[in-house]
Amino acid sequence: MKPILVWFRRDLRVDDHAALYHAARTGAPLVPLFIFDTNLIRRLPSDGAVFDFQAEALRDLGKNLRALGGALTTRRGSVLEVHRRILHELQPAALYYNRDYEPVATERDRRVDQLYRSAGVEVRTFKDSVLHEPSEVLTGSGRPYVVFTPFSNTWKKLSHPSPLGKPQHIIPFPLPSAGILGSSELRKKVLIVEPVAEGGEQMALRRWNRFLQTSLDVYARGRDLPGADGTSKLSPSLRFGCISPRRVLDDCLKVLEEASPDIRASIGKFVDELIWREFYQAVLFHLPRLRESNYREEFEKMPWKFDEKKFKAWKEGRTGYPLVDAGMRQLNRTGWMHNRVRMVVASFLTKDLMHDWRLGEGYFEEKLMDIETASNNGGWQWSAATGVDPKPLRIFNPTLQSERYDPEGNYIREFVPELRKVPAKFIHAPSAIPPTLQKELGVLVGKDYPLPIVHHAEASARYKEQFRRVKEKYRS
Ligand SMILES: Cc1cc2nc3c(=O)[nH]c(=O)nc-3n(C[C@H](O)[C@H](O)[C@H](O)COP(=O)(O)OP(=O)(O)OC[C@H]3O[C@@H](n4cnc5c(N)ncnc54)[C@H](O)[C@@H]3O)c2cc1C
Repeated sequence: MKPILVWFRRDLRVDDHAALYHAARTGAPLVPLFIFDTNLIRRLPSDGAVFDFQAEALRDLGKNLRALGGALTTRRGSVLEVHRRILHELQPAALYYNRDYEPVATERDRRVDQLYRSAGVEVRTFKDSVLHEPSEVLTGSGRPYVVFTPFSNTWKKLSHPSPLGKPQHIIPFPLPSAGILGSSELRKKVLIVEPVAEGGEQMALRRWNRFLQTSLDVYARGRDLPGADGTSKLSPSLRFGCISPRRVLDDCLKVLEEASPDIRASIGKFVDELIWREFYQAVLFHLPRLRESNYREEFEKMPWKFDEKKFKAWKEGRTGYPLVDAGMRQLNRTGWMHNRVRMVVASFLTKDLMHDWRLGEGYFEEKLMDIETASNNGGWQWSAATGVDPKPLRIFNPTLQSERYDPEGNYIREFVPELRKVPAKFIHAPSAIPPTLQKELGVLVGKDYPLPIVHHAEASARYKEQFRRVKEKYRS
């Protein structure tokens, strides 16, 4: 019997994996395949920690496939070339895979489909990485949404697919394999010293279950406090598909059944975040030009500035604004940053420093373990006020945000050790510490910790003026 090729990409698990589940049900022998796309990897600026996360996830996938009787085949090379060789080598009965909605991926997949179909091989693709695909959540007139709330309302009305579970058994069809490549084999530097999460299905489930038991019920309050460990930190696992959104939603709905109104509100907030993830995937799918350009076209004329020293200070977390600095250092150290702080650092770069959002997007691409092109692009364009779902101009005040969301300064102290001894009263604006107290605390502002690199109120006024001019010019 000819085998079915199951191509794994951003879905590194065996539980609730649509392509694997349906392939196993045919009773044919399976070749589970993962390709290290060396052309892509060479071009990616990512920190090597992401590739180590992927390698951990692949090792776990290999183990889980073996437990079902199967074996993971890995190959290295350009995707189309690898498929050409496999097609020749294997002559499979069919190619099965789960769909990806990123513009680069859809183009790649179109070519791969063509290759197999022109050789008479069946290609079956499945919905898997989202609960509802971009083509399913449309306005009444069949158009894509560019505002979150109506997208979310339509999304919620659709009936949600249930998890499929694991295949009972896989009939193996062994092929030579290239092994699993991590950062050292791919010659990528690892600068992230404390990765936020370990890759793999088991680790993702463990993290998810802990969050379900300890934090989901208070998510509505906890999600905004960067010092509180109040969010799931599931994003790298969702990105690499170590857990499925179907499984996550299904567990949420089970808790919802018996929940009090407070807990229901928390679950509702959490589900909204899953919907934001799908909203941004849909937006980029329908408007691939946003990868390069502003949704609001007037911003093409925005006179962004570039100051190498200030950009470096932002990247390294040395801006003199403790919440911004803590966020950037959290990113550099762990490959993850709390959502509220992502919004604050992005507002600071684009509005206080008036740097093009694409610079920040690029730096996040290098560092984030959960790097998801659509969410990153959406988050940056939202923060820069250039994107979909336009809001009135909002500029985050980094000091007020710090006072409101990290009142005791615990988050700041964790990531900015030179401020560890600074009392809560001064931690949000260390330049206001009286000189005698600075000496007592052993932190001289301007020497041990930087003075603010920009005056927030003045910078905001400058930005607002530029914003007004750009809009005026666009109208005329
Ligand atoms: C400038 C900027 C860049 C961002 N870049 C990314 C990125 O590259 N990858 C990424 O996954 N998220 C990105 N986000 C969204 C968000 O910050 C992260 O998803 C979230 O912090 C992940 O932490 P968590 O898993 O604990 O989230 P939780 O609060 O536990 O949320 C659960 C899941 O919902 C999704 N989610 C939550 N918030 C958002 C959001 N605002 N937009 C889209 N999806 C969301 C994530 O998959 C997350 O794992 C970005 C946000 C901003 C402002």
